[in-house]
Amino acid sequence: MISLNIQSVKERISNVCARLGRDPGGVTVVAVSKGRPAQEIQEALTAGIADIGENRIQEAILKYNAIRSTGYVSRIKWHMIGHLQTNKVKDAVAIFDLIQSVDSIDLARQIDKQACRINKLQGILVQINTSGEASKFGLKPQDAIAAIKEMAELKNIEIRGLMTIAAAVDDPQGARPFFLRLKQLKDKINNLSFVSCPLSFLSMGMSDDFEVAIEEGSSMVRLGRAIFD
Ligand SMILES: *Cc1c(COP(=O)(O)O)cnc(C)c1O
Repeated sequence: MISLNIQSVKERISNVCARLGRDPGGVTVVAVSKGRPAQEIQEALTAGIADIGENRIQEAILKYNAIRSTGYVSRIKWHMIGHLQTNKVKDAVAIFDLIQSVDSIDLARQIDKQACRINKLQGILVQINTSGEASKFGLKPQDAIAAIKEMAELKNIEIRGLMTIAAAVDDPQGARPFFLRLKQLKDKINNLSFVSCPLSFLSMGMSDDFEVAIEEGSSMVRLGRAIFD
C-alpha cells in the first residue's frame, strides 16, 4: 500500500540520517510515478509526498492535468527525470518545477529560450553520466565543468545541482563510487565558484540504493518501486 510504503521509506531515511547526524529534512523524496495512474499519485500526495517525478512529457501532462482537475490545493513540485528532446522543451518548461535531466548545452539553451518566453526562471539539475555506460544519458564528468560554465551564463535557468543514475549493480554498495563521483564533482564546481549561487542539490539514489546515496551526500532520492510497488 502506497501510504505504508511511504512511511517505511521515510523511516529508513530517518535511520540513515540519524546515523550520519544529518537532518532527514535535507533529503527530498521524489516519488517517481512513471507508468502509474494519476490515482496513485493522488494517494502519494495524500500520504505526504510533495514531489512527483515523471520521465515522459506526454504522460506527465496528462497526469499533471488530472491532478489539477481534482482541485488538490497543496503545493506539488513536478520533476522531469527522463531524457528530454529539444522539441519537447516548450511543454516541459510549462509544467515542470525542476528539470533534472539536462545533459547538453544545447538543451540548456532551448530551456532558457522557452523559459524566457513565459518569463520563468526554470530550475534545472545537470545530469552526469558517472558510470560512463553508453546506454545512459548525461554529461561526461570531464566535460561537466566547461558545460556548466556556459549554462551559468543563461539568464532564465537556475542550476540547482547535479543528478546521476548509478550503474545497475547487484549489491547497493556497488553504487557507492558513482555517488561519490557526483558529490566530488559538485564540491569541485562550488569551489571554482563560477555559478552565481552554489549548487545545492545532489539527486542520486533510487529504490535499491537510496540509503547508500544518502551516506554519500544525496539530498534528493528518486523512488519508484519503493513507493508504488
Ligand atoms: C524510474 C526511475 C527512477 C525510480 O526507479 P526505482 O528503481 O523504481 O526507484 C529514478 N530515476 C530515474 C531517472 C528513473 O527513470
